Order: sequence, then C-alpha cells, then structure tokens
Amino acid sequence: MKVIPIAASSDRGRTPAPAFQGGALADTLGRPMRDLRISVTDRCNFRCTYCMPREVFDSGYKFLPHAAILSFEEIARLAGVFVGLGVQKLRLTGGEPLVRRDLPGLISMLKDLKVETTLTTNGSLLAKNAVQLKKAGLDRVTVSLDSLDEATFRAMNDADFPVAKVLEGIDAAAAAGLGPLKVNMVVKRGVNDEHVLAMAERWRGTGHIVRFIEFMDVGSTNGWRMDDVVPSAEIIRKISARWPLEAIDANYPGEVAERWRYADGGGEIGVISSVTQAFCSSCNRMRLSTEGSLFTCLFAQSGHDLKGLLRGGASDEEIRNEIAAVWQARTDRYSEVRTLQTKNLKKVEMSYIGG
Ligand code: SAM
Repeated sequence: MKVIPIAASSDRGRTPAPAFQGGALADTLGRPMRDLRISVTDRCNFRCTYCMPREVFDSGYKFLPHAAILSFEEIARLAGVFVGLGVQKLRLTGGEPLVRRDLPGLISMLKDLKVETTLTTNGSLLAKNAVQLKKAGLDRVTVSLDSLDEATFRAMNDADFPVAKVLEGIDAAAAAGLGPLKVNMVVKRGVNDEHVLAMAERWRGTGHIVRFIEFMDVGSTNGWRMDDVVPSAEIIRKISARWPLEAIDANYPGEVAERWRYADGGGEIGVISSVTQAFCSSCNRMRLSTEGSLFTCLFAQSGHDLKGLLRGGASDEEIRNEIAAVWQARTDRYSEVRTLQTKNLKKVEMSYIGG
C-alpha cells in the first residue's frame, strides 16, 4: 500500500481572513496558542515500526520533492509571524530533522526571534552536529530511544541502528550544553514494555528526563491497536514499586508530559498519556508541515495551506490574519473523542506533520 501525504485543503483563491484585532488569541475552547512544531523534512533514516513502517515507507514511497518543501527563509518568516501572535516555543522535528542539510543555519535564523528553540531527534546524527547546533542557538534537545536492549532497539528502529550511537549523541549534546535532555521512549505492549525499568534506571540521577509515551494512533499506517498501548498509570506503578515516585506540578500550563519525581532525590521522569488520559483541554500546540500546511491537531485529517500565501506574495499581516483565523476557529479534541472507529480515519502521517 502506498500512502500519499494528505494534502492541505487548497486555500488559494479564497477570500482573505478578516483582520486580527489583536489581544490574547484563543480558540473556540478558550485555549491559547503557545507552541509551534515545525517539520523540516518528511524523510527519516529510521523506519520505526510504529511511525514509518518499512512496508509503507519503502523505496517506492514518494517523499516530498525539494521544491515542495518550505525553504529555511520561508520557515523563519512564518515562525516570526507565529511568534508575533504569541508563540513562545519552537520545536524542530520531522521526519528526522538532522537529515535536512545545514539545520544549524535554520536555527541561527530562528535565534533572532528570541523564543525557546528545541529539537526532537532520533540521535543518530547528533554526535557530529551537537556543537554546531548549540553555537547556532539551539536551547535544548529531546532524543528518542525506545530501548537500551540492542536487539529490541534495532528491531524497533528497523534500520539496524545501534543503541551505543544514540547514547554517544546524548552525551555529545549534554557536553555541548544542550541539556538537561529529554529521552523519549514509546512503549508498546509485548515489544519493549519489559525494558521500562532499565530505561528509568539508566537516567536516574543524571539530570536527564526520560519520558514514557503511550503508543498512539497517529497516521493510518502503524497498525495501532488499543491492546498494544501500555497505560501510563501502569508504568508509574511499575517504576514506583522499585523507586517510589511522587507527582509534581507542570512547568507551565499545557505541558504535554505529566511530571513525577523520585522520592529519594533521583530526579524526575515524565509520562505522555495521550490515549488513556487525553490532555486536549489544555492543548496549545500547532504543527507546520514540511510543505507549509498548518495543522491544529496531531490527529488531523487536513491542514491549512500557508505556503500558497507565502509564495503568492501575501504580506505578513495577511498571513497573520490567516493563522489567527485558523486558531480562532479551532475545535480539535481528537484524543477526548477517540473511539475504535476514529482510529480508522485517514489521518495525516506523523513524519509529514511533525512529531
Ligand atoms: N525523528 C525524530 C525522532 O525520532 O525523535 C523526530 C520525529 S518523531 C515522529 C517524534 C517523536 O514521535 C518520537 O519520539 C517518536 O518516538 C514519537 N512517535 C512516533 N510515532 C509515534 C506513535 N505512533 N505513538 C507515540 N509516539 C510516536
């Protein structure tokens, strides 16, 4: 089966959005706009079975051609408009962001916006890029690592990539001053759930924060089943039985991970429970796809084309009005209304929309 990324609804030729009157921007459920995730590429050098399964993303898969993807100048211009509307944090993601050539060049452009800029990466190319990323102005890094067990990790990334290289990337990032790092582990029942304790133990006392993520029904190619989801509550129980944990407050409203700390002072962990404890009511995130479509939900079926505006000669004010109108009309709360039926909707792939 070949999956073509779901196209953004074409906005060309539409009537311009009404002028944004300023003030605090809120959607129909009163949620502010705070975080922007930017997918800089739909390509990845891993084929994680839960994200870009090799049967689908094989040599015949049609990734976006270069001309279709936003240039760094276009990304930086849009990011500036988002920041003007209240965005406080930018996260570069993908696909694998470090496979895009000269990513530090983009980061140095974003630095001028003076908001927190972070990166989510599989870590494979981090060791050789960490110093440049830091110099360019990157604030922090999140590295995905699904197991410390060699065979399990290689099978999950389906690229035969070794654990040691990712650990090397994490060390290099920390040494470059990009810490404390977050380490993301997607937990799948019967695949890597036996390795949760080893993962917790590896990062206890290091200052880095491991976050256990529930396997989600993003896109429509990863064969998601509820039976494969390990509820965060189970993970907390398991870790707490070994090293007692206590809940702590979020760092800011709408933080994705629920925070827990070791009672013995061993640091903190996080859990991301999009399936069993939906957090739509505080969701303040948007995603800008690789080809410049704006998505207001990770589980969306379509986006809003901003590239057409950019390349059609729209002014910053027109783009600002459009983004504000999209946010003000936002009603998404997919994880709160997820059912066995909604999992079959033709949702956009995570590698395209940005994880
Ligand atoms: N390539 C980068 C990486 O590996 O971190 C960035 C993109 S990746 C899509 C971002 C994050 O999404 C990773 O931590 C990945 O494990 C997570 N992810 C991908 N598919 C997922 C799924 N079905 N459920 C939960 N998390 C998922």
